Amino acid sequence: MLEHIVDNIYQVSPGKNTIFPYSFCFYIDDEIKTLIDTPIFPDFVKHLEGRKVDRIINTHFHRDHCGSNYIFPEAEIFAHAEDIPPMQSIESFSLYYGFEKYGGSEIAAALLPKINWQPSHINGELKEGEIISSGKINLKVIHTPGHTPGHCVLFWEEKGLLFAGDIDLTSFGPWYGNDVSDIDLTIKSIEKIIDLKPEIILSGHRGTIKENTEKELKKYLDKIYLKEERILKALDTPKTLEELIELKIVYGRFKKPENLYAFFEKVSLLNHLKRLIKLNLVTYHEGKYHKA
Ligand SMILES: [Zn+2]
Ligand SMILES: [Zn+2]
Repeated sequence: MLEHIVDNIYQVSPGKNTIFPYSFCFYIDDEIKTLIDTPIFPDFVKHLEGRKVDRIINTHFHRDHCGSNYIFPEAEIFAHAEDIPPMQSIESFSLYYGFEKYGGSEIAAALLPKINWQPSHINGELKEGEIISSGKINLKVIHTPGHTPGHCVLFWEEKGLLFAGDIDLTSFGPWYGNDVSDIDLTIKSIEKIIDLKPEIILSGHRGTIKENTEKELKKYLDKIYLKEERILKALDTPKTLEELIELKIVYGRFKKPENLYAFFEKVSLLNHLKRLIKLNLVTYHEGKYHKA
């Protein structure tokens, strides 16, 4: 479904389910016809009803945000330099996820065919502070690493409208389940967005949010600290990584396939523990994590 948001901006909705692997993307019907992100499933194109696509701007390398780039061979495509390698090589994609490093090779072998990984051509790099004009609309590129190293949001300053990618304001909270994800950077990036005071947020998994954006962003950021508190509480008794995974502190429950979500739980926990060790709140010895 193509829904009008404001001016010449449209939301392409995935249907009932909006959480990964489904996602929203956005169409700008300006002089340069622009898509912000492309979903995994190429059948989304039916919603465009034959509208032209001259340009694609990808917020980051995840398949639910650039997965259908390949069906637009004529479009010029932009992404941040740090997220380009996994859009062009499947080896790099696997490295960014940390599949081999964290014992997830079998999971990768089952997952990769399902997400239909296809290489994407790239015509230009997104650079912090740069303005990308499509005619009437001028979008400012804001580099917001953490979720992925090259995650960017796009801000139409004049209207206070933000294309937020996967700083998505879902009740799950920020996601940092890649080997290349970084929680400190995620925190800084969300704070950077709060400072922008966006009035309208176009989220990759919630669509258009027009109310209480500041409160929503703060609540979203707090999810990180809440999970951190629960990890520290769990470490009242020292635990191995495996014992922590079983508590499902990050995910709450594992969807199917469970081994995939257990893998993401593991990498997310490792990113939390990395930060907690740096903050001198946790130590690691004799195979267990201890509260410092
Ligand atoms: Zn993502
Ligand atoms: Zn996403």
